[in-house]
Amino acid sequence: MRSFQAVLQAELAELVALGRHRACPEVAGVSRTSVAVSGESRLSFCSNDYLGLAAHPDLAAAAAVAAARDGFGASASRLVSGDLPAHRQLETALARFLGRPAALVFPTGYQTNIGVLTALAGPDDVIVSDALNHASIIDGCRLSRARIAVYPHGDPEGAADLLDQARTARRRLLVTESLFSMNGDAAPLARLAEAAQRHDAIFIVDEAHAIGVFGPRGRGLCAASDVTPDVLIGTLGKALATAGGFAAGNRVLRDLLVNRARSFIFTTALPPPVAAAALAALEIVDSAEGDRRRALLRAHADNLSPRLAALRPSGLDAPPPDTVAGSPIQPFVVGSDAAALALSAALADRQIFVPAIRPPTVPVGSARLRITLSASHDPADLDRLVLALRPRV
Ligand code: PMP
Repeated sequence: MRSFQAVLQAELAELVALGRHRACPEVAGVSRTSVAVSGESRLSFCSNDYLGLAAHPDLAAAAAVAAARDGFGASASRLVSGDLPAHRQLETALARFLGRPAALVFPTGYQTNIGVLTALAGPDDVIVSDALNHASIIDGCRLSRARIAVYPHGDPEGAADLLDQARTARRRLLVTESLFSMNGDAAPLARLAEAAQRHDAIFIVDEAHAIGVFGPRGRGLCAASDVTPDVLIGTLGKALATAGGFAAGNRVLRDLLVNRARSFIFTTALPPPVAAAALAALEIVDSAEGDRRRALLRAHADNLSPRLAALRPSGLDAPPPDTVAGSPIQPFVVGSDAAALALSAALADRQIFVPAIRPPTVPVGSARLRITLSASHDPADLDRLVLALRPRV
């Protein structure tokens, strides 16, 4: 038998041969739009710090106060060592912000999806899931051991058909992202909510990329479309610029998650300084300053989107994603993995940092640059990006 190391090397070599081998670049700097990559200064379009809050002094100050008051690490699971003030305060504020009776914070958004789906579904249930749902939703579906029925991306009739076919299941769940992380397109939330209600299904919406960005005072796309899902999931790691995830809904939901969500129960709680910084970020999101940052982000999206459309390579098999107006996620689909890698490398030569996104993160043949915008970009940054993307003759 080959040695353990040789087996792993063979697997890695396969990834290299497919052009799918990846490594984390080394970056430094407090700004998320101007970073040092391996020591070289780059203009970055790849962070999810949509409102530019990662370096905001209020977040650092709140974290310092909480570290002094509550300590740094939470030291155990909340069911074991208890809730610290920063946890309770953040959950109360999130629930109030979202207009729901209760919220529960998890250490990451990934763990939130895992915890919610495994707590609510089991082997006798069916989860109806959008074809482009995030890996954390897919993993939650798989871990729940429910039957998974995947509907074509953004297709409420497809979802309704699958819910109908699942009518003898113990429970039906319908799960979607609101703003899709690789396309920047929006789910048809009102029609999905209607399908879920008609088929007596639990409706779960992951607003990871929409909270802070869309809707009144950044309350998300559900609020913008007047939809109240049974479970609203979000992350604190993107527009809220910290870390963690949350599920919001009624009090019974929260109680059930505390008792059944294994990714909440069997893990050390979010560090209190992180919870306190997230609360400070939420206060900015829900303020005139948040509105000002959303307006800047919106202006950047409106500026870049038509210019990217004009540069889109012709002859691609897949139609371009139906990116929603104002999306901070602006995909630039180029097709093959090699083309995406080459374009990313050409941008790096011009000191611009936009990694290529390849399968399995996106479907085969739709490799792309995933350009993300932040309120802390300025219009000259966008001009630089567009100039660098222009085909050279
Ligand atoms: N849901 C979606 C739609 C996401 O894009 C992500 C992060 N990429 C997550 C959940 C996971 O959130 P976190 O990064 O907080 O684990």
